[in-house]
Amino acid sequence: MRKVLINERLVEEQDAEVAYNDRGYNFGDGIYEYIRIYDGQLFTVREHFERLLRSATEIGLDLKYSIDDLIKLVKELAATNQVTNGGIYLQVTRGAAPRDHAFPTPPVEPVLTAFTRSYDRPFKSLQEGVSAVTTEDIRWLRCDIKSLNLLGNVLAKEYATKYNASEAIQHRDGTVTEGSSSNVYAVKDGTIYTHPTNNLILNGITRRVIQWICEDENIPFKEEAVSVDFLKQADEVFISSTSVEIMPIIKVDGEAINEEIVGKVTRQLQKGFEKYINSHSE
Ligand SMILES: *Cc1c(COP(=O)(O)O)cnc(C)c1O
Repeated sequence: MRKVLINERLVEEQDAEVAYNDRGYNFGDGIYEYIRIYDGQLFTVREHFERLLRSATEIGLDLKYSIDDLIKLVKELAATNQVTNGGIYLQVTRGAAPRDHAFPTPPVEPVLTAFTRSYDRPFKSLQEGVSAVTTEDIRWLRCDIKSLNLLGNVLAKEYATKYNASEAIQHRDGTVTEGSSSNVYAVKDGTIYTHPTNNLILNGITRRVIQWICEDENIPFKEEAVSVDFLKQADEVFISSTSVEIMPIIKVDGEAINEEIVGKVTRQLQKGFEKYINSHSE
């Protein structure tokens, strides 16, 4: 039987329960990470947990675990569930307490849960590309925190699903921010353009890997926001995340990008990404 992690205990999936008054449930008051497993190894796990600790600090949640503690916990979980290819979702809430918007005083213990998922890499989509639709970014102004409060993201993704697209590319007044759970890039004349890492987007770990590849291979990388019109007229568009890796977008709002042919910068990044899978897994 598959197990899930609840605080420091591995529990049978069917016995895993959290409290009805957990603040994650009542307020979305918590943070999370999603870590990829390739060949039984965790990819860029330290970067993910550094980001988790940052998210915790930003919402005033006192997490008693170190990065090494967290790695140990999720490694045990992945090993128990014998995940070869897949990922681990880990979320931390501010804990269970009588319902009140303000933080509980005195503070209660945060609740940490984690579960695994097994699946193969999306090779076919990575090869052929997928489609996206654009939608207004209606989220709050701290999108840099990987928060459990995902209603804006959920509605964006549902909109994409309704229009048979793989991802929703969000924009604020015509300026592209990011996908519902991915970062967005446009390539024009060999230069990659993506939104700067400020409060309006989540600073993706895959985005960081892309920056490393660009440094290795001298690909111009500009942290400069682009308009939806610029994106639609770009030579290449792609998105990135832990689950979709470097995913070509060949259609936006039904309009073809580069005649639906995956571009060469995207291909170069995909190739470079393979090397990092090998060098940044543990
Ligand atoms: C997690 C996430 C991403 C991608 O981050 P990765 O670390 O590359 O997985 C991008 N945007 C949002 C809104 C996210 O939640």
